[in-house]
Amino acid sequence: MTWRALLESGKQQLLKAGIAEYELDAWYLFERAFGLSRAQYLLFAPKEADEAGETFAVNPDFERRLSLYRSYLTRRSRREPLQHILGVQEFMGLEFLVDRHVLIPRQDTETLVETVLAAHKEKKIRLLDMCTGSGCIAVSLLVHGCYASVEAADFSAEALAVARQNAARLTGGFGNVHFRQSDLFAAFTEEEKFDVIVSNPPYIPSVVIGELEPEVRDFEPRIALDGAGDGLSFYRRLAVECKGHIRVGGHVYFEIGCEQGEAVKELLLTHGYCEVSVRQDLAGKDRVVCGVWLTA
Ligand code: GLN
Repeated sequence: MTWRALLESGKQQLLKAGIAEYELDAWYLFERAFGLSRAQYLLFAPKEADEAGETFAVNPDFERRLSLYRSYLTRRSRREPLQHILGVQEFMGLEFLVDRHVLIPRQDTETLVETVLAAHKEKKIRLLDMCTGSGCIAVSLLVHGCYASVEAADFSAEALAVARQNAARLTGGFGNVHFRQSDLFAAFTEEEKFDVIVSNPPYIPSVVIGELEPEVRDFEPRIALDGAGDGLSFYRRLAVECKGHIRVGGHVYFEIGCEQGEAVKELLLTHGYCEVSVRQDLAGKDRVVCGVWLTA
């Protein structure tokens, strides 16, 4: 058995299981199981060919790692997300811990973070990330924006445990994110006002959830995805509740599903927000709705 054959058999197993990114996923699982870097693999693999099938497995821990590799491949074949197996996902250049209690950070959501970073150069402002999940938005804003105060809230205690770990790992030297458990603003006092409120709430219409990829449908937390009937229920609540916690001149930024731009824009306008606009992600799809609160 050679490294090359092991990697190849992993790719074939994932291909048969219908995994679109089977080559890349097999590589990541191989790399994690055997602790082999790309450079080491490229160094070893050609030599193996000369030795006609001789194992290059000099690692004394080989048997244990091999069974780990097999179990990773089985899990991935059953459509468990790669990120749950590896336990991490990269977002805004940072490595976030993830598990089944949090939504895996998506590249789409970088648009939300970048929109806020570009619009708010002033550091002495107070930001809130509502429905923080893994904490990826709050932590990225703190690290990349160096803001004076970043707070974050979530309904799920399990999600907050993950978010707190991410903040502890990633924010050293940048201050701290303050987390609290809250059903939207239920745990906030009337006096608490923010300059910026950002949120990536659950926004998938309930009926659509059954049609999502098994990785999302069967493994990601439903409470992080399900936006009820038409997917807009959290925007309706946020439009109302943010008014009580945004400073005059403060901004709200919501991630949206790509077909929800007009509806969420209308909602914010109806509730009295000004300068409401819809921004696109890198794929050119509607992804963020922003608004300003100007009423004293
Ligand atoms: N963008 C996510 C998805 O398509 C959903 C995120 C959310 O509901 N906030 O799976």
